[in-house]
Amino acid sequence: MLNLRISFNVMYILILLVCIWFFYATMKVKIRYQKVFRGIMWVSVVLYLNHIIGIVMEETCPEQDFNRILQQSGHYFLSAAVYVLYALFMNSFVKQFQYYPKWRKALFYAPSVLLSILLFTTPWTHLIFYYEQGQYHVGPLFPFMIMVRALYALGGTVEGYRKRKLYPDIFGQSILVIAFFSLLQMVIFVLFRDESLYYSALIVDVILCLLTMTFVEFYKDSQTGLLNDAAFWKYVNYGIKQKSNREVYLIKLKNYQYVKENCHAIPLQMAIQEMAECIKEYSMLPSVYYLGSGRFSIVVQKHAKFSQEKFIEKMKERFCVPFDVNGASISFKIFIAIMNLERGRIDKNNFSRYFSACDDMKSRSIENVEVIQGDSFGIDQIQRYHSVEEAIDRALAENSFHMFYQPIIQAKTGKVISAEGLLRLNDRLLGYISPEEFIPISENNGKILDISEFVIDSVFRFVKEHNLEEMGIEFIEMNLSMIQCMDGKLPDKLRKYLNIYQIKPSFINLEITETATNFDEERLKEQFIKMRNMGFTISIDDYGTGYSNLVRVLEYPINCIKLDKSIVWSAFHNGDNFVTLKNLIAMFHDVNKKVVAEGVESAEQMDALTGLDCDYLQGYYYSKPINEDEFIRFVSKYNSLIV
Ligand code: C2E
Ligand code: CA
Ligand code: CA
Repeated sequence: MLNLRISFNVMYILILLVCIWFFYATMKVKIRYQKVFRGIMWVSVVLYLNHIIGIVMEETCPEQDFNRILQQSGHYFLSAAVYVLYALFMNSFVKQFQYYPKWRKALFYAPSVLLSILLFTTPWTHLIFYYEQGQYHVGPLFPFMIMVRALYALGGTVEGYRKRKLYPDIFGQSILVIAFFSLLQMVIFVLFRDESLYYSALIVDVILCLLTMTFVEFYKDSQTGLLNDAAFWKYVNYGIKQKSNREVYLIKLKNYQYVKENCHAIPLQMAIQEMAECIKEYSMLPSVYYLGSGRFSIVVQKHAKFSQEKFIEKMKERFCVPFDVNGASISFKIFIAIMNLERGRIDKNNFSRYFSACDDMKSRSIENVEVIQGDSFGIDQIQRYHSVEEAIDRALAENSFHMFYQPIIQAKTGKVISAEGLLRLNDRLLGYISPEEFIPISENNGKILDISEFVIDSVFRFVKEHNLEEMGIEFIEMNLSMIQCMDGKLPDKLRKYLNIYQIKPSFINLEITETATNFDEERLKEQFIKMRNMGFTISIDDYGTGYSNLVRVLEYPINCIKLDKSIVWSAFHNGDNFVTLKNLIAMFHDVNKKVVAEGVESAEQMDALTGLDCDYLQGYYYSKPINEDEFIRFVSKYNSLIV
């Protein structure tokens, strides 16, 4: 019998050691609840060892000496400690224990501190248990010990159960099993004073918690340890189903891409973590979701203690000074969009459209913290998004997209030598829709790939049909977003239309617009190289808008830089910017890149840019984008005037 009891406990210890090994092998112990769980496992090991000592003592020296009493107190202490740790684990897992006010933390620990004092004084006070003539007796405060254990066990379980929907289903199920075991062993203990079930239950609990944590890793961003977008969408869908009044905040770092290029990965990652801590602290919420590429989100239950004004005020205060991490000072500009999950008015699909609309929104201000209220466009915006999606489908089905061309002038000679193809959509129901609106939408729903095909077909056909080369045109610029560039079928599509129209690839310049989205840089570079090898030339569009990437300009096979109209214009408002522009153009020339200035609207701008040695000029000063026939007429007329 003795051997059997000891063997069981040895087996439990072995199982625990396997769990501990698994834990260290699969998890980087960084987050609070992981540390607490590590505590649970080690305390359990000590508990089982103590139990083995107890069994040996009981069998070998039936006389109850002081050591035996100490062992028994130790046992009660350790088993209570496991429950306290379990409650702490749940509280830091689903809630934010570390941000609780001091009084709440004190309240949480108070019963356990009291119990510890009672347990270690019980050899003298006999309040919890005592031995009399070799017989074990419970003391008057024995029920208090049971109550404290039950309190922590139930408290932790209830917290976990309430938030179970936010985690993988296995989480909710294991919470139920754990609750069942805790209750069962408590009842058996009270009725029969038998703790054997307790020891098996503890092992099951540890394994279940461990399993749950492993599954939860799927919901974590691997770099920052924050909850990821899968967790975010799970929570949002839960909120939508609950039909509750919640607000979703999207917090976006406007200059993420720029900062990423200019600082090492580690400080940026640490800055992201620190920022998440700030957002948690200011919002007093347990979870901040990190959606990647410098995008955070929080979900706030309306009418809770959360105050929107205070939150924004604190964010404004914090973001007007840089973040100091590892000796690096990083300044961020942020954009906050606040969206309403209005009670019952929004469904899952609508919300994701609404969210994308906010995510795509172009910044309109230069402030450090820019706030957009979802209400101001909320439902209307969703409807608009939806109708633009329909208009895109209609245009594809009815072949009603068409291309306009905006002349590009060679600064040196003043001749039209190129044009940029710009897509136009005039919908029969919605009227004119700007590409700035429908391109991002088509990128979100994947229609961009069909649109690309249309654009390639039209541009190549135009080049062929009008024999542009003979008219003195040297190349045509065709827009491609990064998403289009990443399309594995793009080289095949380009090849197909080169064959159909028999035009030279060097006649086509691919203008790539950069975005904030993160791409697999290696693949992107590969695609660029493929297109270059096919004979196309490549430009980087919108240089100077914050997303542009100097590293890419230098490392990728790029022929030409297109300065965004905003930096062209700002050079004419501010002397410093003018000097910067001058240096920028000189620098690009140094590395053998041509420079196009966009947004030339006046003779003054034209003269100045020509003076700065800019290679090509484009803007309303020469012509707005015009249709094919108008373009042909424009070129003949314009170039014939120049001798
Ligand atoms: P972008 O490539 O930067 O195109 C230049 C935009 O600036 C065009 O707007 C053009 O009409 C406008 N623009 C040109 N000169 C001036 C000027 O002097 N003053 C002012 N105020 N504006 C000027 P548009 O046609 O509305 O196109 C907007 C954006 O839509 C484009 O920006 C481009 O990112 C995207 N886009 C247009 N066509 C295509 C396409 O075929 N494929 C892709 N992927 N994107 C496209
Ligand atoms: Ca462009
Ligand atoms: Ca541009």
